[in-house]
Amino acid sequence: MALHMNLKEYEEKKKTLRLSCECGWEGNASEAYGELHEAVLDFECPKCNNMLLIVNLIVDPEKYFNWKKKKK
Ligand SMILES: [Zn+2]
Repeated sequence: MALHMNLKEYEEKKKTLRLSCECGWEGNASEAYGELHEAVLDFECPKCNNMLLIVNLIVDPEKYFNWKKKKK
């Protein structure tokens, strides 16, 4: 099951953060496949593409969605 954390937690932990997967892969978050989406950064296992970590980049969802509405 994927871990969930927010950006602040991720920034604090990323240097020491170890991810492990059901398939046996283990490594640092920097070794996993990070993919940036609009609001989340997710990390997949390089071996089996299992989702290991999801980082929420939106610190304040309400502000974010208000900002998005204004942009349209
Ligand atoms: Zn795996």
